[in-house]
Amino acid sequence: MEFNKARNIIGLRVLSDNVIWLWVKDKSVVVVDPSVHEPVIRYIDENNLNLEAIWQTHHHSDHIGGTKSLIERWPNVKVIASYKEQKRIPFQNVSVEDGETLNILGEEVQIIEVLGHTSSHIAFFLNGKIPVLFIGDTLFSGGCGRIFEGTYQQMYSSLERIKSLPKNTLIYCAHEYTKSNILWALNLKPKDQDIKNKLSEVEKKLSHNKLTIPFLLADEMKINLFLRAKNLEEFTFLRENKDLWV
Ligand SMILES: [Zn+2]
Repeated sequence: MEFNKARNIIGLRVLSDNVIWLWVKDKSVVVVDPSVHEPVIRYIDENNLNLEAIWQTHHHSDHIGGTKSLIERWPNVKVIASYKEQKRIPFQNVSVEDGETLNILGEEVQIIEVLGHTSSHIAFFLNGKIPVLFIGDTLFSGGCGRIFEGTYQQMYSSLERIKSLPKNTLIYCAHEYTKSNILWALNLKPKDQDIKNKLSEVEKKLSHNKLTIPFLLADEMKINLFLRAKNLEEFTFLRENKDLWV
């Protein structure tokens, strides 16, 4: 896929369904949400890279579990997280807030606060010819994050904000949940041709042992029922329905 070649972003599959993303540029690397450390260290060593920064979208252990060990190995690494999480992400050394812009690996990175899954979740947005968004657990292909600490209104607003980004944005989320999300959506909209097509595409990728992530915002807006919700009421119905889906 051509669009994957714009930036060198590698996905490491870990735990049952987590994906750790590594953005590699020249000989430096940024790691997003390292749930574990071993595969990250192995990849960095095998490719002779330097760990420049760790980006934390939120405080859950399957996103920060590997960070401590990475800091022990690279004591000068920048650990970037929300300033609201100084207690739950105590090893952060660059505290950021919504709207802030950082310069990492020679590119501008914008912090976008996307509340709902937790009370302080952030996303990292790289603008450019092919924009990239690391969205953590706020949006998944075919789904969105569970609302653990925030409100339905916050999550709905976060999704509206994502929808306002350039439609050619490539979205990198932290879990490979796509197939089960699409099966849920098809259960609600059994005749929806776009969702049916998405299921075939996803099954094909998975059968070749490929990730279904990243996904394009424009495509996702056609098949993700949460992004298609017309108002808060519809969004709330969908989120509650999905919470009961097994
Ligand atoms: Zn989470």
